[in-house]
Amino acid sequence: MNTNKTILVTGGAGFIGSELVRYLLENTENTVVNVDKLTYSGNLQSLVSVASNEKYIFKQIDICDENELKKVLLENKPDIVMHLAAESHVDRSIEGPKEFIQTNIVGTFILLEQVKNYWQKLNGSKKNDFRFLHVSTDEVYGDLNGKEDYFIEDSAYDPSSPYSASKASSDHLVRAWFRTYQLPVLITNCSNNYGPYQFPEKLIPHIILNAIEGKKLPIYGDGKQIRDWLYVNDHVRALLTVALKGKVGETYNIGGNNEVKNIEVVEKICNILDILIPDKLNRLNSYCELIEYVQDRPGHDVRYAIDNTKIKSQLGWEPKESFKSGMQKTVEWYLDNLPWLDNIQNGSYKLERIGVKIQ
Ligand code: NAD
Repeated sequence: MNTNKTILVTGGAGFIGSELVRYLLENTENTVVNVDKLTYSGNLQSLVSVASNEKYIFKQIDICDENELKKVLLENKPDIVMHLAAESHVDRSIEGPKEFIQTNIVGTFILLEQVKNYWQKLNGSKKNDFRFLHVSTDEVYGDLNGKEDYFIEDSAYDPSSPYSASKASSDHLVRAWFRTYQLPVLITNCSNNYGPYQFPEKLIPHIILNAIEGKKLPIYGDGKQIRDWLYVNDHVRALLTVALKGKVGETYNIGGNNEVKNIEVVEKICNILDILIPDKLNRLNSYCELIEYVQDRPGHDVRYAIDNTKIKSQLGWEPKESFKSGMQKTVEWYLDNLPWLDNIQNGSYKLERIGVKIQ
């Protein structure tokens, strides 16, 4: 699947976007144009390993800025646009949904318009082979609530939170730009990701960080909410597979076949930490003693589970990591990269945006 294309990635300084940018630059011949506004979750320190790669271009641009988008498209002439830029944290969407509507819906609309204008002026194979990949979530399908079935690509949309509703809206816009304007789009709906470089507000890095600091490990409700977890590198390989081999206009569900209860995720982290860094300071027999149940999140979905048969059988993608191996790698990565976490916690990761070199 090695190609020599120009790939414009939106949201490439985020958790999944930075994994995608690193993967593309370290494993393929493609040129990568990273378009990112650098919100609180955009972190250039996640891209240090590729920052000086001659095939890497970074542009600090808001996807709601149509003039800047137009310029970056015309200047770089991408063959593929992979759209990951979004507000992504469910709790933040409950506290303040406005940014979610703005970036996830309005921003996707503005991006679609600019990409359409750019694509319509292309010719020949550059036009025929162009692809717009929209990266979405399984949360658009809502909640399986104990039912024994799985989300398939045709499952009805039934989003619960402002986040998932905004992502659902963006999926509809993308499909409409295919049906109405024939823009060659592809959509992916993926389950929960985990792995290195995830912003520490999300469950897994939050728990690792709290445990290291001897703080309580908060679990929403009874902790029995089930999520299907996918290692982030498996996700970016799936995204590239869909962008290069997927059928235009189609949707592909991506999941890891790892249905795990939230409480089991936290216990798994504690068990790994118990072996790697047994806590002597706080006299804990196990980090599990720090677990604390807190009031549930409003509208909290009980179960998400993905049927990934389509992408496996039609495109030949398979996840490589089991939950066990992926979690081991993830916990080890955070322990080995505490300065990355520290720079987020003390806010210094933002200084790099204004040109201050961080050691
Ligand atoms: P993230 O919050 O870590 O990263 C989002 C990135 O988008 C950041 O770098 C941010 O600066 C950038 N961004 C935000 N608003 C922008 C704007 N207006 N213009 C340009 N850039 C902007 O999110 P993530 O976890 O990496 O998720 C990436 C995508 O994958 C999102 O679309 C999300 O909905 C989707 N997704 C995430 C998961 C998951 O488990 N994290 C699962 C399925 C799908």
